Amino acid sequence: MDVTKNDQELAGSRGFERTTCDCDLCRVPCRHMPGALAPGDLEAIAAHLGVTMSGPWVEEHSRASDGAKVLSSSGSVVSIPSMVPAQQEDGSCVFLDDAGHCKVHPVAPFGCAYLDMHMGEEEADNRSRTLIMLQLGDIASDGAYSKCVGVLKGKGCVAPPLVERRENFHQELGEVEMRMQQSEDLTT
Ligand code: SF4
Repeated sequence: MDVTKNDQELAGSRGFERTTCDCDLCRVPCRHMPGALAPGDLEAIAAHLGVTMSGPWVEEHSRASDGAKVLSSSGSVVSIPSMVPAQQEDGSCVFLDDAGHCKVHPVAPFGCAYLDMHMGEEEADNRSRTLIMLQLGDIASDGAYSKCVGVLKGKGCVAPPLVERRENFHQELGEVEMRMQQSEDLTT
């Protein structure tokens, strides 16, 4: 897949070097728990694919999701409105092709481009906080992202519960880790 100048600019605009790991572990989220989109990500994906970001395209390719939980100014815990790629029938991301590759890799969602399975907790938390700040910024300005989440919810385009996605993710993660351990045992 060609990486355009715009793609590179977008990838470098979040203040972190993007991840590129393509190992078995890092592909597990693609099959069960696509990474969260930040404001502007879906627009970049549509531009990269050369499609118009129409309502039907958005409904086909994205879902409203439970987001990170934060403390509101009143002290209650609230979930930040969030968007993720839609999932295919088998749970895999709508942008995953039949060969197991990401069709939108150069402009992948924030949760895919800036987090991977090998990152330390502190670094992952730091990057996740940036995503939260981007989402909160959009909410504060009544931006396109939070409006889109509202429209998706209203149309019933909602991702499966986070707990369900996590369960499927952890189940396959365990299987992949076991396979990796077995192949390591065979080579020692
Ligand atoms: S957008 Fe790409 S990297 Fe992210 S979950 Fe989908 S297929 Fe995987």
